[in-house]
Amino acid sequence: MRLDFTREDIDADDATIRAHAGQAPVGPLLASVAHLTGEYDLLADDIRPDPALPWMAPDYGYPAEMAARSRERAADALIRYRDRGCPRPVDPTPRQLRALVEFVVAPADLDDHYLELLEEELALGGLDPRAPGWHAASRAPRRRFRVAVIGAGTSGIVMAHRLNQAGVDVRVFEKNPDVGGTWLENSYPGCRVDVPNHLYSYSFAQTGHWPQFNSTQPVLLDYFRSCVEKFGLAGLISFGAEVVEARWDERTSRWTLRVRDASGGESTHEAEAVVSAVGQLNRPSLPDIAGIDSFRGPSFHSARWRPDVDVTGLRVAVIGTGASAVQFVPRLAERAGALTVHQRTAPWLLPIPNYLDDLPAGIQWLLRHVPDYARWDRLGTFGRLQEGTLPQTVVDPGWDRSNNSVSAANDVARRRLTAWYEVAFPDPALRAKVLPTHPYGAKRMLPDNGTYARTLQRPNVTLETTGIERVTPSGIQLADGRHVDHDVIVYGTGFQASRFLTPMRVIGVDGLDLHDWWDGDARAHLGITVPHFPNLFLMYGPNTNIVVNGSIIYFSECAAQYITECVGMLLERDAASLDCRPEAHDRYNRWIDMATDQRAWGVSDVNTWYRNAKGRIAQNWPFNLYDYWRLTRAPDPEDYTVRAR
Ligand code: NAP
Repeated sequence: MRLDFTREDIDADDATIRAHAGQAPVGPLLASVAHLTGEYDLLADDIRPDPALPWMAPDYGYPAEMAARSRERAADALIRYRDRGCPRPVDPTPRQLRALVEFVVAPADLDDHYLELLEEELALGGLDPRAPGWHAASRAPRRRFRVAVIGAGTSGIVMAHRLNQAGVDVRVFEKNPDVGGTWLENSYPGCRVDVPNHLYSYSFAQTGHWPQFNSTQPVLLDYFRSCVEKFGLAGLISFGAEVVEARWDERTSRWTLRVRDASGGESTHEAEAVVSAVGQLNRPSLPDIAGIDSFRGPSFHSARWRPDVDVTGLRVAVIGTGASAVQFVPRLAERAGALTVHQRTAPWLLPIPNYLDDLPAGIQWLLRHVPDYARWDRLGTFGRLQEGTLPQTVVDPGWDRSNNSVSAANDVARRRLTAWYEVAFPDPALRAKVLPTHPYGAKRMLPDNGTYARTLQRPNVTLETTGIERVTPSGIQLADGRHVDHDVIVYGTGFQASRFLTPMRVIGVDGLDLHDWWDGDARAHLGITVPHFPNLFLMYGPNTNIVVNGSIIYFSECAAQYITECVGMLLERDAASLDCRPEAHDRYNRWIDMATDQRAWGVSDVNTWYRNAKGRIAQNWPFNLYDYWRLTRAPDPEDYTVRAR
């Protein structure tokens, strides 16, 4: 994929310009056109949306008349700009920039710190405000400091890039033969990202070439490969190299990695610091159902898709109705003779009409002629997802939770979605099966433009909600005694998410095993550092997953910034190691747990991969995006024991 923005001069006629401008969301459209044309009076007070409108309201909350008027004004400005001969855009002054950002994200009184975060996300002019502000060659010219990064997925790539920018010696160990992590391993039909791509991409590698709002897996894989190429990272990655053990040597202040290659041979590598970028959703989870090995036909997990299995005309069972299954079930249903979807918990479907759409011609035109539209669209989405619907998941302690909601606002969200279910599932019997009985936001909600809902109503599809007793050689035995014959079984049963870093062995100070230390309940300071494991850093670690707000790439960028600054601190102080103080770690985790107890996913007892074997929610970040950024800008030395060399 091309990672650039090219600007073509506008030569379209007035009607074409108006038609194209008419397809874009108003906030990013006005901001990008004001920026291009220099007509800042486009950002007029009479076309500001009401900030109280819900973020999911159509057109960013602009009432139809206001939206139409705004688009007219944007089109008029583009026509005047064309008539002036399309001069090069001038960089906005700080005041103009603030006005643009305020217009897209927050109507007024933007806090200076939040503005700084927004400017980083915007990365206007292709700048990289998050690039490290130091270089190893000047900070510690004679120091040998190697960092081993485990994994070349979305987190590993940004980590390697940041350390490389800082001139730190970095080596990435990737078990697969290619980069991309989850976007390499999950190749099931229908796989795509459920966060819009202008946001679901690196701040420092934005592009005007996403073909869809929410791109498909091959496009995403192409993007991550392109990033690796553009930033010259390929030479830093060892492929087919699975780290099976990392062991800290207190005497030398060094980690030794045991690395298994594709043929099973092992080698060791040393590094002064280790970053785990292995992801949370990396090791497939097969359900603990009796008899699953007895099935005679093909059976496979969604993350180990078997493209060689042609399901045309066959009887297929899908177990699971999570984010993966909701994407591949419609594709299987198109071919299967009979498809049975085994649902244990009905997920909340979130109606997103353009979820599967290609970018319309009007937006594609804008991206070519007003290329910064992509950045302003990114910022608009970021602003809306900064909190997302987090406020609607906050538990009101006085609220009667018996009707499956946690507050008045949560109940409004439930009723709004229920109204959609009434239209999408006209049959009351089916609707009773698919309508969730857990609160809105208690587990991840799944975007649907209606495709999944319609699939469940196809004549060749059955939604089975009776529990599974066992898998038999010929199909599935249900708890009520029925047996359903199947030719193929597909497990959309998720991942061993709360078993962070498994199956790796990680040995810290005094031979302490990380998994023993966690004892099934992974915790880390900021999701990144763990006491007694010096110079070990985790990306997408405990409590850094999001339920209703943001993009996980944002968290990877924040973690990469923090870890880079930790390495910078070690080099600056010529220190051997930093080890998180247990008090800082415990204080932080108490703060997380207290907030979790006030979120829908914290109080609901619905099945979810967010809850670990100990019953604690070890996955989710319960705050907004700004809070994580604020905490991860740089390490607080008070949180660490820093050992001299
Ligand atoms: P998941 O959300 O964990 O869903 C697993 C499904 O399998 C659930 O419906 C679960 O039922 C069911 N299940 C598990 N064990 C079962 C058993 N023993 N019997 C019957 N049913 C069982 O896994 P996923 O769908 O692979 O998604 C995992 C995460 O990956 C998502 O939450 C999301 O963060 C990410 N993801 C993102 C995208 C995207 O961006 N588009 C796509 C796919 C995945 P219960 O609900 O009852 O547990």
